[in-house]
Amino acid sequence: MALSSRLLGLAFASADTLVEIDGEDRVVLAMGAAPAVGHAPEDAWTNRPLIDLFEPRSAERLKAALETLTPGARSEPLDLLYSLGRGAYRRVRLRLFSLPELAPHCSCALTWLGQSFELDTPEDKPLLSRDALMRQTGSLLAAQTSDPLSLAFIDVAGMDQVEGDQLNSLTARLHSALQSMSIDGASASHLAGNAYALLRHESDTASIEEAIHNVAALEGVDVSADVRQVELTPGVDRQATLRAMRHALEVCITNGAQDDPDVTFKKTLDRTLVQMDSFRAMVKARDFALHYQPIVDLESGAVHHFEALARIPGSDGPESTIRLAETLALIDSFDLAVAEKAIQLMRRPGFGLTHVAINVSAGALDSDAYGQALLRLSAGDPDIRRRLSLEITETANITDLAAAQARLLRIRQAGFKVYLDDFGVGASCFDYLNHLTVDGVKIDGTFVMRATEDEKARTLIRHLVDMCGGLELKTVAERVETGEVAELMLKLGVKLGQGWFFGRPEPQPRLERPTLAATGRRRGAVESWG
Ligand code: C2E
Ligand code: MG
Ligand code: MG
Repeated sequence: MALSSRLLGLAFASADTLVEIDGEDRVVLAMGAAPAVGHAPEDAWTNRPLIDLFEPRSAERLKAALETLTPGARSEPLDLLYSLGRGAYRRVRLRLFSLPELAPHCSCALTWLGQSFELDTPEDKPLLSRDALMRQTGSLLAAQTSDPLSLAFIDVAGMDQVEGDQLNSLTARLHSALQSMSIDGASASHLAGNAYALLRHESDTASIEEAIHNVAALEGVDVSADVRQVELTPGVDRQATLRAMRHALEVCITNGAQDDPDVTFKKTLDRTLVQMDSFRAMVKARDFALHYQPIVDLESGAVHHFEALARIPGSDGPESTIRLAETLALIDSFDLAVAEKAIQLMRRPGFGLTHVAINVSAGALDSDAYGQALLRLSAGDPDIRRRLSLEITETANITDLAAAQARLLRIRQAGFKVYLDDFGVGASCFDYLNHLTVDGVKIDGTFVMRATEDEKARTLIRHLVDMCGGLELKTVAERVETGEVAELMLKLGVKLGQGWFFGRPEPQPRLERPTLAATGRRRGAVESWG
């Protein structure tokens, strides 16, 4: 066949490059545009098997297409990744023509797409977790130059068109493309579902949308991306800004703020920075109160001790403020201020016998600071240490159990009692009990409230009580709202109870409690300190 006919084929395909391969799929003729400088097809391809020119997965697809190509037919367009070597690639659309007069030779028309790019193997650089993304943000902000850093939120649509192996392959390509567009090739993160984020320079204008669309086209899938970018500014207190950023990121994710993640992020970040300032000011001014709720010996009805519960002005309950302070690592100073207030009350005339439990967020066991400050606050006062106990909340957040145990030991040796709060929720609470030596556990109120009608909750409480008996631990049932529940807890072997049945949190510990009509027992009279 004359060269002119072959060129006609090229024109017909409106392609950039024409290749002819022999019966063994070796390139015998190559002409037209080069994929990159120094890659003239004539020199680089001739005598090489065609499939060797492509990235392995593309090569497989091409091989399959060649095997099924029948004489006289032409293939569907194949979007492939042409390998430029050293991890660089260029996308190409390829069509095969099997002209009968050329057989067994066959023609390929290639159209080059986009620019060349580098692609790391995804195994080398897995996407970052959200925490790792924030650590990375921290170190990049610390090293920040005049070119501001920005966080791009990417919502990918269209991945649901494929499944199985093809989805895996598409996902791997997507991850790889995201990493390669991030600032250092390793700063992209999978946030949730189809939401991704990556760090890049604000000045980087390369289109993420286009790159994602192109990489998916290699798999023959039409994927689109919505990209929103926010500039990150480190602020005076870099650590605080970072924590606020992490929180803002969490909010973006949990709210599923797919529509405007950049706006949500910026708003939440600004609001969080203001909240941080006002929380610090509130703690500094001790602008909060403690309310006291009795914890009662179920057998005797006597008040065993009071739990001090924080009341923060302008909020319905302490929970949301406290959870935010935990996230922002501001809770230690607050928990210490609570300890200080509780100790002041316990030193007041008339409260010499009052035992008080304060709540301490588990993060306090992640460093030495809280324990040391608590020992300073109570220095030279063994009586206070004997009468003050700690309820460790949010145990799931303890990162190093062995170190936490060492800190707990010092606190307990000083005379404080320690309880694990809200026990039973969270899969690893038994693991904590195994690793942390404490004096008691507070059975989470959700089990207690269900116990009268839920056999499973009763079984769990029974086992827990059994186990605690063996370990010589006190058990406290939370949220005892009725006499029926109080009786059931006693029957199940729980020692202490707390809840509206015995009394609500009140501004002062109330030592006198009403008499329980049914039993004649006084609910909550101070009779002993077991
Ligand atoms: P918690 O330590 O488990 O406290 C018990 C919560 O249950 C209190 O809510 C209390 O008012 C409520 N409660 C008591 N009896 C009943 C009942 O019979 N039924 C029902 N439905 N609820 C009952 P509150 O005061 O809103 O505190 C919520 C959480 O905030 C506490 O849970 C604790 O995790 C945290 N918290 C409170 N004060 C502090 C503090 O000073 N430091 C720290 N780190 N956390 C605190
Ligand atoms: Mg508590
Ligand atoms: Mg609790």
